[in-house]
Amino acid sequence: MQKNKRIQKALFFSLVITLLTSFTLLQIKTNKNILIGKSRAITPLLKGSTYKLQTNVYDALEKMKKDALKKGVKIHVISAYRSFEHQNRIWKKKYNVFRNQGLSVKETIKKITEYTAIPGTSRHHWGTEVDLSNFKNSRLKNKTATKKRKYEDWMQENAHKYGFYLVYTNNKYREGYKHESWHYSYRAISKFLLIEYLKLDIAKVLKTENIAGSTIFTKKYIEKYIEEHVLGINDYLF
Ligand SMILES: [Zn+2]
Repeated sequence: MQKNKRIQKALFFSLVITLLTSFTLLQIKTNKNILIGKSRAITPLLKGSTYKLQTNVYDALEKMKKDALKKGVKIHVISAYRSFEHQNRIWKKKYNVFRNQGLSVKETIKKITEYTAIPGTSRHHWGTEVDLSNFKNSRLKNKTATKKRKYEDWMQENAHKYGFYLVYTNNKYREGYKHESWHYSYRAISKFLLIEYLKLDIAKVLKTENIAGSTIFTKKYIEKYIEEHVLGINDYLF
């Protein structure tokens, strides 16, 4: 009897979680501005103070961090949810740096998009993505190679157990962004958001925004960018 009750309780909670996830997805599905980081409607779906992620993603990450720490592995969150405005600040800063070095608009954008997304096209807008590191301060890198290796081994073996997968892998056939060993995606949600995202007319959306260098964002340019950068991801995340 006791056992049955426990099973019933577990089933009830898994049902609640499923319903909450569906509710979240439905809200995001119906609001295209959430997908491009422009809507405040995502705020109630986010959890966290020092960094923000969708509730399910946040909880999975905290559990992973806690379990890793038990094995002596520290996981630091470098970046999580980013709004359109936040991404645009990063974009503008990099744009000015490369333009001041004498690069043309086209060369500048090529250079920025080696690692950074055009605002409105970043997966960080979705609240499902996170940049992780075993260092709070990346300048310490060379001094602690052993710790780094331990972290990388642990992540490779365990991150997927918590739902996290690398997006920009070192697969040489992958196009778009360079290899990012730090960027993880919470597949159970991001997989569906990608499908919704691809339904948007991104070229049209970007045209109405004030983005440095956007004069070169023709329909053809953005189509190629979507093909290479948005779709140039780990096959498992489709
Ligand atoms: Zn990232």
